[in-house]
Amino acid sequence: MSERTETRSRWRTLARGLADVLLPRACAVCQGLLASGDRGIVCGTCWSRCEAFPEPSCRRCGHPRQPLPGPRVEEPGQDGFASCRWCRRLPPIVRAVRSAVRLDAGSGGAIVHALKYSGWTGVADGMGERMARLVFPVDVVAERVALVPVPLAHTRERERGFNQSQLLAEAVSRLWGLPVWSDVLVRQRQTATQTRLTPSERTSNVSGAFGADPRGAARIRGTHLVLVDDVITTAATLNAAAAALTDRGVRMLSYLTFGRAPDAGDRPSHVSDPD
Ligand SMILES: [Zn+2]
Ligand SMILES: [Zn+2]
Repeated sequence: MSERTETRSRWRTLARGLADVLLPRACAVCQGLLASGDRGIVCGTCWSRCEAFPEPSCRRCGHPRQPLPGPRVEEPGQDGFASCRWCRRLPPIVRAVRSAVRLDAGSGGAIVHALKYSGWTGVADGMGERMARLVFPVDVVAERVALVPVPLAHTRERERGFNQSQLLAEAVSRLWGLPVWSDVLVRQRQTATQTRLTPSERTSNVSGAFGADPRGAARIRGTHLVLVDDVITTAATLNAAAAALTDRGVRMLSYLTFGRAPDAGDRPSHVSDPD
């Protein structure tokens, strides 16, 4: 480090320390004071209270596997777990799905809320860091060529001032060294919020909501893309986006989200797995 860089970095540390004293910063999630070691605008406690789904998980969809009822059967090809119900939600073109945190426990839901509804866009970097750490199958890592954020309808993006999926995709792209292709998918119409809908209502609500932008058509043909969204519940939104890309000749897709809602019958995270 040159003397000049060292002096500059010392000044920066001093300035940051002074700013912490003069302008104490609050956590965007719990409103507690940020410690000087906290990076970003979410405190270490809120990050540490994020919960992942329990292992073992399905290698394809990343959802926790369900133990078979009754005593465990030790037979070849039978490992004591039922075949994955969650995978049935996915079209065959989807290779793998990964999510960083569960939304029903810990601080995952509050972190999503801080970004999406309270407008703390700075939270996206820390969320993207956790998404970038997720382990995908080796063929996905070798093949993925770009991140595609799920677009918002223009009116909603104008109201909110940003698209949370775009911010997350940008944060992941810096760590994975992949481009973000925001021009390949368009939202053709605004859809009602999915929150209060049943799984089948969700699917019809978003059916046909996306189209592939002709400008990106040549680029996406034959590729493996990673679709990025803030949360996944029934996969209806991501599947509708996938359908539009499939029509344009995409070969394979993987899904990446920060949060995932649990499914009926999931084991709670504090219950330990058999063996
Ligand atoms: Zn906090
Ligand atoms: Zn699965």
